[in-house]
Amino acid sequence: MKATAITRRGGYDAAEHARRYERVARLMPRAEWDVHFELVAAVEALKRERNAVVLGHNYQRPEIFHGVADFVGDSLELARRAAESTADVIVMCGVRFMAETAKLLSPDKIVLLPDLEAGCSLADSITPEDVRALRRQHPGVPVVCYVNTSAAVKSECDACCTSSNAQLVVESFGAPEVIFVPDEYLAKFVAANTKVRIIPWRGHCEVHERFTGEEVREYRRSAQAYVLAHPECPEDVQEAADYVGSTSGMIAALARERPERAVLITECSMADNVAGAFPETDFLRPCNLCPHMQRITLAGVRTSLERLAPAIEIPGDIAVGARRAVQRMLDVGRPRGA
Ligand code: SF4
Repeated sequence: MKATAITRRGGYDAAEHARRYERVARLMPRAEWDVHFELVAAVEALKRERNAVVLGHNYQRPEIFHGVADFVGDSLELARRAAESTADVIVMCGVRFMAETAKLLSPDKIVLLPDLEAGCSLADSITPEDVRALRRQHPGVPVVCYVNTSAAVKSECDACCTSSNAQLVVESFGAPEVIFVPDEYLAKFVAANTKVRIIPWRGHCEVHERFTGEEVREYRRSAQAYVLAHPECPEDVQEAADYVGSTSGMIAALARERPERAVLITECSMADNVAGAFPETDFLRPCNLCPHMQRITLAGVRTSLERLAPAIEIPGDIAVGARRAVQRMLDVGRPRGA
């Protein structure tokens, strides 16, 4: 579709379309952006009709992140901002545990996930029964779960955490040891920074575990790039990186360091999405895409808003337990970054 063929539709017009293109000009040719016009316009019209907000996770495809998302960020930040909004409907452009977290914080709103098959290898690595078995093996030991878990697993845990407040939450119990599920690498990252003995689970993110320490050392050696890695990456990757932290932490580190060249060792859409905010930085882009995030499309967002489905529902007893675990984290403080 040519830009000249674009006409007003539902309040989203050619001028607005051109303005939004500035956000993605480094990522896609104008012709590709124009292909998305009809769907972006349709989603914008439906958002107004339904009084809906669209949440775009940092790992989302650019036409969603820059095209239709009202709030962007990590999973907890998104859930909190949606809860504070006056919207009746929330569309989570992320994966299932993120939509559940949004529902926990907005029980009276309709929370849509355009594709219910959008899962997460980390969240799927542990069940509520696994947590109960861990408790039987380690009686009296508090259980902390990463936010990348189902509501059912959260409801079995004492507190939830994100990658940036994990240590704070672990230490908040004042206990000599804590069970930490499900991410083994994040557990080890926390263990390296605290005196609390951490009992880990063996869950992994299928995207982050693909990176290797050798790959990171090569980026530093051949490109002299500043390397930022997510703590869901294996230990040798973390050891070789200049900075290790959550997605929000990475953005803060980039703002602080303003490196000439950088590489983000995380899901590759993240580099695409933050590149616009750091025009002076040349981002090298190793591309490991999350297949679950990629299930969310503009067409899916439009359909879910038209049908107000699929909607996330959490059984009452599970919601009570999971909300308690999330609230404990919020009470401990500094909840940023997943
Ligand atoms: S990138 Fe990894 S942790 Fe994040 S949603 Fe995908 S599989 Fe889960």
